[in-house]
Amino acid sequence: MSEPKTVYLTRRIEISSAHSYSLDTLTEEERIATFGKSAATHAHGHNYDVRVTVKGNVDDETGMVVNIKSIDALMKERIDEQLDHRHYSLEVEKLKNVWPTLETLGPFVWNEMAPCLEECELHEVQVFENEDFYVNYQGGNMVYLTRVYRFAAAHRLHNPQLSDEENRELFGKCNNLHGHGHNYTLEITLCGEPDPRTNCLVDIGAMDAAIEERIMKPFDHVHLNLDTEEFRGINPSSENIVKVFWGLLEDAFPPADLHRIRLWETSKSYFDYYGEKDAVALG
Ligand SMILES: [Zn+2]
Ligand SMILES: [Zn+2]
Repeated sequence: MSEPKTVYLTRRIEISSAHSYSLDTLTEEERIATFGKSAATHAHGHNYDVRVTVKGNVDDETGMVVNIKSIDALMKERIDEQLDHRHYSLEVEKLKNVWPTLETLGPFVWNEMAPCLEECELHEVQVFENEDFYVNYQGGNMVYLTRVYRFAAAHRLHNPQLSDEENRELFGKCNNLHGHGHNYTLEITLCGEPDPRTNCLVDIGAMDAAIEERIMKPFDHVHLNLDTEEFRGINPSSENIVKVFWGLLEDAFPPADLHRIRLWETSKSYFDYYGEKDAVALG
């Protein structure tokens, strides 16, 4: 029996590029309602972080899936040379008549790269508009869009069914009587098919408002055990936080589906929850 040899390899590049939300397929009123500030000026720009993940078998002779040089050359030719230091909404033919959202850019990068790869297969494309807003795309009709939010809270890991000594033994410093706290980073990933009229998966303003209402108001700057109903009887471990938040957010973003909640407790650990469905794991 041969051993499975699939390895995933990711390369990143940074693209400084401008875009504008000025197509006439929406009225000015609709444009501003859909794209907010982005629709109100001639253009603005970002340092996009573009990540391309390929997969393949490890070659016995080279010990590699693919020579990184060939991936770099392709990313330079197909992505960097088309987009970097350009106004891509005006200058890139394939991006001229589409709304320049992340839901457009993920599939664009995929379509530029996928047909040109040899020896390996494209697995995933990620495009970050900034560190708090990014898209994952793995081909097909579905896109995965992530927004990042931050809140600060105290908690104490404690199980009242155990003795004080057992709690100290199990949770260590995290059992401190009066609690301790974190700057939590919460990544909310939605999935679905973008609206063909706007190329948006979700109304970002409505998404931010839902997070404000359902997460920030109840959980930011509180003691999770003492100040919230949700954690009065549940140990507020990160594992339980992602599950509780899932219940609060599952129906919050129509027409998109909630795909993943990722919670960073510190810069050293994060926890992913995909609900009870079988889900596509994302990078
Ligand atoms: Zn922008
Ligand atoms: Zn903690």
